[in-house]
Amino acid sequence: MNTTEAFAGLDCTDCGATFDATEPGRCPDCGGPLDATYDYDAVDVDREALSARPHEGLWRFDALLPFPASEAVSTAEGATPLVEAPRFTDELDVGRVVVKDDGRNPTGTTLDRGFSVAMTAAAQSNAEDVTVASPGNGAQSLAAYAGRANVRHHSFVPSRSTFHNKAMTNVHGGDMRVVGGRYPDAVEEKAEDVLDGWLDLQEFTTPYRHEGVKTLAYEIAAGLDWEVPDAVVVPTGTGEFLVGVEKGFRELRSLELVDEVPRLVAAQPEGCAPIATAWERGLDAPEPWSGPDTICGELEITDPAGGELALQALAETDGAAVAVADDDALESAYSAARYEGIEMGANAGVAAAGAWKLADEGEFAPDATVVLLNTEAGGKSSDLLRSHLMGKGI
Ligand SMILES: [Zn+2]
Repeated sequence: MNTTEAFAGLDCTDCGATFDATEPGRCPDCGGPLDATYDYDAVDVDREALSARPHEGLWRFDALLPFPASEAVSTAEGATPLVEAPRFTDELDVGRVVVKDDGRNPTGTTLDRGFSVAMTAAAQSNAEDVTVASPGNGAQSLAAYAGRANVRHHSFVPSRSTFHNKAMTNVHGGDMRVVGGRYPDAVEEKAEDVLDGWLDLQEFTTPYRHEGVKTLAYEIAAGLDWEVPDAVVVPTGTGEFLVGVEKGFRELRSLELVDEVPRLVAAQPEGCAPIATAWERGLDAPEPWSGPDTICGELEITDPAGGELALQALAETDGAAVAVADDDALESAYSAARYEGIEMGANAGVAAAGAWKLADEGEFAPDATVVLLNTEAGGKSSDLLRSHLMGKGI
């Protein structure tokens, strides 16, 4: 594999064993998730370099990625805007609210960042088949990147996955299995059906998905002129986004490009909140959630693969966790569209609703800068948002 100068290898987050870039999954010694490490002394970047060349998307940050941009499987993901949200700023009664609009990625989700890096690794290792189980957005993103890399792809999605996700996964080609039930049923079916030689690109199985997500932190810092926000509110399911964003900010601090890491907030739906509940109870690892019930399918992750790492990320940043009702998530996504002109999916509405709840509880200082992470385009859940509107009699 062709790796970057500063890339040092993959470390097991549980036992500390080290591996090179070719290790395809979790730690062969203990089963823990692997994480890319770097020799930060060998990273030759400054604020100017990290702010330049936005048209190259997240691969402009390749000095801090495992693979060089020349090897990237990319459709120019990343480089999404920070959009000012003046009405949210007034309503939350804080100094500034900005939306990091990652719904503008190629398939409309933050997941594209991770799949670009993970597919780059897969292509470099000459994988012939890749697979993932997903509530829906992940299958679509995998299909896009695997199709571009001309690698066969096999996704497992629950029947309740949205029409949009299933349709676009089909359009990108490949093999999609629709499994009756919910996301855990798709995970189970994948475990039974995956064939020898298929490379598993599940989050925290491949080491590279949260690695792509970390570029969000670089873009937020650069977009705010290297002023670290007071809080970043992250819709949280598997933990991939939260862990990625925390790593990115921690790296910037190691490189002395920012002074501190922001407070991270994990926002989950009340109907499936294993990470928020574990945080409230002071646990080191979430307990699997039984009887999940939320309209936010992307966040209906009962047994999050990155749960333990997500709780560590919250602890490292003096963070917070919040659980919100589905109706509040839908109302927040509706408000973003109606009053700010920002299209936000229902799953991302969980972050906005979470920020509202924390503001009501007095968690933000009056001059705080709060970043809401919009992880999903509004068009992904247009049916849900329209139904919500009709439920209000509009
Ligand atoms: Zn290990």
